[in-house]
Amino acid sequence: MVGSRKEKEMRAGKCPICGGKTTMKRVDVTESVGNRLVVVKSVEAEVCTQCGERLYSESTMRKLDSLMQKVKSGSAKPESKRELEVYALSH
Ligand SMILES: [Zn+2]
Repeated sequence: MVGSRKEKEMRAGKCPICGGKTTMKRVDVTESVGNRLVVVKSVEAEVCTQCGERLYSESTMRKLDSLMQKVKSGSAKPESKRELEVYALSH
């Protein structure tokens, strides 16, 4: 199976960026689709306790990819919608 070695490495719980310990968590993934910002709730990820890097398994990445395709084409229905306000710090 493609990616099985990668998943095994991830299960070993080591961050490829800083070498810190990773722990399995459910995180919200934010993706921008055109000028929209979409959030995918409680995605399983290995999160580095040291630098915060998130690692997703191959199957999670595939699911995210196909969901984003559906979001782009408008065939995915959002669970809920919220207003988003964007600010910038004044200089
Ligand atoms: Zn790290």
